[in-house]
Amino acid sequence: MNFSMLHPADQIVMIMKRLYSYQMTTTSGGNLSIMDDEGIMWISPSGVDKGNLTAADIMRVMPDGTIIGPHKPSSEYPFHLAIYRARPDLRAVLHAHPPALVAFSLIREIPSTNIIPNCHILCPKVAMAKYAVPGSEELGAYIAEEFKKDYDIVMLENHGVVIGSR
Ligand SMILES: [Zn+2]
Repeated sequence: MNFSMLHPADQIVMIMKRLYSYQMTTTSGGNLSIMDDEGIMWISPSGVDKGNLTAADIMRVMPDGTIIGPHKPSSEYPFHLAIYRARPDLRAVLHAHPPALVAFSLIREIPSTNIIPNCHILCPKVAMAKYAVPGSEELGAYIAEEFKKDYDIVMLENHGVVIGSR
C-alpha cells in the first residue's frame, strides 16, 4: 500500500488508530492534521473516541475558516493553524501525549536524543514551548514561535509534544 496515495481522511484515521494502540493518546486526547494542496486542513474531531474513528468523522477547516463535517474539529486546531502559518513547508501536524514525554514536560526537561542513534537521526533537535491553556490562541503562538526557529519537534510544558512533517 502506498500511504501517500490514501485520502487525507484515511491517512488521519490510520495514524490515529496506530497512535491510540501505542498508548500515545487517550480516547479524548491527541490530534492530527494534514494540509492538502488546496489549503484545506483535514483534522481529527474533538469529542469522538480516537480508537474508533472513521474517515467520515474527519473534519475540514477551509482556507476561509469555514468548518465542515459532523463534529467539532479538535479543540487544539488553533495551534495546528498557527504552525502551518509559521511554516508553510509543513503538511502534517501531530500532537500526542506519550506518557514518558509528558513526564519530561512536567519537569520541563528535553530528553537527550544522543543516547540512541536512530532516535537522534529522527529527532535531531527538540524545543520546549512555554505553557498556556490547551486550546488557547496563546498556546498556538508559543508553539508557532518555536516552529519558526525551524524546530520540527516541540514539547509543550506540562502537556505533551507536537511534531510537524513535510
Ligand atoms: Zn494535548
